[in-house]
Amino acid sequence: MRTFDYLRADTVATAGAEAAQPETRLLAGGTTLLDLMKLNVERPARVVDITRIAGLDGIAVSANAIRIGALAKMSKVADHADIKTAAPALSESLWRAASAQLRNMASIGGNLMQRTRCMYFRDPGAYPNCNKRTPGSGCAAMNGVNRNHAVLGTSDACIAIYPGDFAVALVAFDAKVIVQGASLPRERSIPVDDFFLLPGQTPHLETRLAPGEMIVGIEVPRSAALQRSHYLKVRDRASYEFAAASAAVGLAMEPDGKTIRDVRIAVGGVATKPWRLRAVEAALKGKTLDEATLRAAAAATAEGAKSSGHNAFKIDLAPKVVARALMMVGGVA
Ligand SMILES: Cc1cc2nc3c(=O)[nH]c(=O)nc-3n(C[C@H](O)[C@H](O)[C@H](O)COP(=O)(O)OP(=O)(O)OC[C@H]3O[C@@H](n4cnc5c(N)ncnc54)[C@H](O)[C@@H]3O)c2cc1C
Ligand code: SF4
Repeated sequence: MRTFDYLRADTVATAGAEAAQPETRLLAGGTTLLDLMKLNVERPARVVDITRIAGLDGIAVSANAIRIGALAKMSKVADHADIKTAAPALSESLWRAASAQLRNMASIGGNLMQRTRCMYFRDPGAYPNCNKRTPGSGCAAMNGVNRNHAVLGTSDACIAIYPGDFAVALVAFDAKVIVQGASLPRERSIPVDDFFLLPGQTPHLETRLAPGEMIVGIEVPRSAALQRSHYLKVRDRASYEFAAASAAVGLAMEPDGKTIRDVRIAVGGVATKPWRLRAVEAALKGKTLDEATLRAAAAATAEGAKSSGHNAFKIDLAPKVVARALMMVGGVA
């Protein structure tokens, strides 16, 4: 591990000013950053501890929106009584992530900013060719073991999955990331759908966060679909595992109780960023809620998907996970 300077920021402005310096990383729970530093994937010269910044760990559920501070712990958000009621998918996506110890340590801001679990990315000693780590060096995963790689949103430069669960639930329900920085005294908000970037030819650029900015919170508009929502995560083992495929879904019905008024769907574990399924949503609005309709619409989940070999199973799995999640939330399972 490279030797680094440890600094502590007490305000967002100080953290932003420090983060604008080259080779600097912010430190929250440390559950991703320290792993990557030990692996020599992250080699910052300066680490800025943001955990003492006051007022960034709040959780507020009002009539119109849910606001969560960047330093709120995953476990606190998952277990918050009002979030469980108003936004079950948000709570469930966190409960199904990582382990109890990690959730007690890890922050919401750090969770959004977690890096891919691509084993080639995480092993620079054995695999120098990784465009995400070293732009222009190639991609070891393309012709390597790629069972856990993406089938949606890939490019010929990178097929790495965005691994987080929470951001998948956030993108389904039009959440915004609130950011602030040294040269940005007021907050600005970025829809989660825009916050994460497709790899294209620049997979090392993962978000729209500018140098000197940090996440200060997230905001999720409340809706009937969010209130009747669910996060289904399918994985190789029942806990402490990333998604093979996951779906965040929400439903709102017309007064007749049979016709779908609003539906939200996003998938995880299969794409290079949290992946909203607007075409599937459009196909379901105004339709009668029944198993055949849900399965037919969900078949379009993997439209445009591209297999790299070992991950072909995800193209079959993802539509099934979406259909199953919708049936569960719709009470037709
Ligand atoms: C064994 C293991 C299993 C896991 N399983 C899952 C899982 O199933 N699902 C899942 O979703 N996650 C999983 N995770 C990831 C885990 O959720 C993240 O490690 C955690 O959420 C990161 O939060 P942190 O506060 O510890 O971030 P840190 O490690 O402190 O930071 C992570 C990154 O975010 C940056 N950062 C932190 N805070 C901010 C901020 N406010 N603004 C801007 N940048 C910031 C840091 O500079 C760093 O680059 C797992 C992790 C481990 C180690
Ligand atoms: S898939 Fe992306 S992260 Fe993984 S080796 Fe290829 S370029 Fe690197």
